[in-house]
Amino acid sequence: MTQIVVPAPGPIAQEDQQGAGLGQPLLDVRGLQVHFPARQGGIMEKRRVVKAVDGVTFHVQPGETLGLVGESGCGKTTTGRAVLQLVRPTAGQVLFEGRDLVTMQGEALRQMRRRMQIIFQDPYGSLNPRMTAGDIIAEPLVVHGMVKGRQQLKARVDELLETVGLSATMRRRYVHEFSGGQRQRIGVARALGLQPSLIVCDEPVSALDVSIQAQIINLLEHLQERHRIAYLFIAHDLAVVRHISERVAVMYLGKMMESADRLEIYERPLHPYTQALLSAVPIPDPELETTRERIILEGDVPSPLFPPPGCVFQTRCPKAVAQCKEAVPAWREAAPGHWVACHLV
Ligand code: SF4
Repeated sequence: MTQIVVPAPGPIAQEDQQGAGLGQPLLDVRGLQVHFPARQGGIMEKRRVVKAVDGVTFHVQPGETLGLVGESGCGKTTTGRAVLQLVRPTAGQVLFEGRDLVTMQGEALRQMRRRMQIIFQDPYGSLNPRMTAGDIIAEPLVVHGMVKGRQQLKARVDELLETVGLSATMRRRYVHEFSGGQRQRIGVARALGLQPSLIVCDEPVSALDVSIQAQIINLLEHLQERHRIAYLFIAHDLAVVRHISERVAVMYLGKMMESADRLEIYERPLHPYTQALLSAVPIPDPELETTRERIILEGDVPSPLFPPPGCVFQTRCPKAVAQCKEAVPAWREAAPGHWVACHLV
């Protein structure tokens, strides 16, 4: 097996080689860092920084879904926001269709953002309760000049409502008149109106009941097939991510631990953290479920204000060796398309 070894995940790592042979990625994130000044008692402390995202590298091909997983606080949501430049990165590159968004500002950035949308976790909190469903969906269409005149606007809003499985007659209803699943459909319609090629789905179903989750996932899959939209699907539910993603990337304490094709990562996880996460996923087969070996991680995730030296996972890793406390593991390609940061792999 050929091994490509690259330097420790510094500002610009090499994982863009993952996409070699597949054409230019739609989104190519290299060495992304988002550091915030620490706060104590509401006062900013410039000398100490919270490394929310620290040298993260991944790519998304047109029309594919990359699942981004990890425990809460691992930096996956901040990564999604930094991709869209809703949070400005401290360092690194975010290449969208080959252009670096980090260096862009003003109108140029606004135009690029039109093709990158976001669906939020909380359909209750992310939609303006004072606006009707029709106005919520119409707003970005008007702001970006996507329609001409009232008639065209109304027709487009009706079309979008129907595309996401709602009725055009619901246009005049307010947010509180919809169920959770219907609100998330409004969020999807709002994002879809600008004809994006990438949607960052930030835990889009975790606030919904399981039966409704399946409906929203089916809707997203249907829209992807029809419009060839790529998703950066951020979630902590590994069963949902397995269902929807073509590739999966695992984060821990602001760093990328492992990424690979879905089947490869679920059936042959190489990183001890991924192995522990997957060991907690229930297996639908009762016989296999009774023999399932669960890896229990000791302790809590350390604070990103004081990340451990060497490998950030060393304080909880059941396989840690002396080297793990001293050296940051390189981000290396252990098998074709299967990237991992661990000294033992
Ligand atoms: Fe565990 Fe060491 Fe690998 Fe980190 S580098 S995951 S501590 S074995």
